[in-house]
Amino acid sequence: MSKRQVAMVMDLNKCIGCQTCTVACKTLWTRREGMEHMLWNTVNTQPGAGTPHGFESMGGGFRDGVAQPGQRPSVEDFGKAWNFNHEEVFFGGKGEISLAADGGKHGKGPNWDEDQGGGEFPNSHYFYLPRICNHCTHPACLEACPRKAISKREDNGIVLIDEDRCKGYRFCQEACPYKKIYYNEVEEVSQKCIFCFPRIDEGVTTACSRQCPGRVRFVGYLDDPEGPIWKFVTKHKVALPLHAEYGTQPNVFYVPPLSPPKIDDEGNPTDEPRIPTEYLVSLFGNGVHDALKTLERERERNKRGEKSELMDLLIARKWLDMFGPFQK
Ligand code: SF4
Ligand code: SF4
Repeated sequence: MSKRQVAMVMDLNKCIGCQTCTVACKTLWTRREGMEHMLWNTVNTQPGAGTPHGFESMGGGFRDGVAQPGQRPSVEDFGKAWNFNHEEVFFGGKGEISLAADGGKHGKGPNWDEDQGGGEFPNSHYFYLPRICNHCTHPACLEACPRKAISKREDNGIVLIDEDRCKGYRFCQEACPYKKIYYNEVEEVSQKCIFCFPRIDEGVTTACSRQCPGRVRFVGYLDDPEGPIWKFVTKHKVALPLHAEYGTQPNVFYVPPLSPPKIDDEGNPTDEPRIPTEYLVSLFGNGVHDALKTLERERERNKRGEKSELMDLLIARKWLDMFGPFQK
């Protein structure tokens, strides 16, 4: 058990799917050979199959504390690295537009379901779900590694792979129910999100949270009553883990999305939200009901001009306050 746990809260009401977080991470951490296909941060359109494609039916994690068998995702499931014809268009004076040069034959891309979503017009809907490694309190990846190459830092709970110890067996890939571990075929080691620990150690928040133009991502310690995470998760109970039933106790939490009313056959708004609550429950559990009620109640208070600590936090007027003690 770590002494403290760093955690992230992502407000899904504000994510615009711009992938700035994905690029911020990619340019900082996954530029080495063999990492071309790696996106430690992904942002997917929901409802959708996610990245890797269909990860929710690939097993792993724990049931009643017992490790469950899991599938190893292939490079195709993650989506191969795309080749663009930049050379031809920008420097060769040929080609019409900059496109994936292989004409889309790259398999399943990182957001393969881009903006398709669910439902039928006029009740079609979608939202974006950004995902990183959850730096779980009970990490299935760590437990599955026979080389003891995966550890959880005692001071902040960040889960790391020691690439010198890793022999590339990939049991961690099978065990992680979120399928957030990649395999580097060149270096023959498993690799994943490191929660930007060299930045965290210097008091600087993660690159994905710092670069996010939507002010979606809050960072801090789970037990810090002065920080944003504790307030969202414990005090207001509006931030929930993804698939808590996987049994790994994830430390990334989501504020579920509110949506406009569903339209009935006569074209009139109903009392039901357009994004079906059952779908949100299937992702974030039964806490969704109370979380949505709290969000709606506080939003109304805000509209009436009354003070709402929760809305002030979510709006994040003071950008640096989003990052708890990591504001440098
Ligand atoms: Fe391990 Fe997966 Fe949890 Fe990350 S999300 S700590 S890789 S089990
Ligand atoms: Fe969403 Fe922020 Fe990532 Fe853009 S940078 S996709 S707004 S989380």
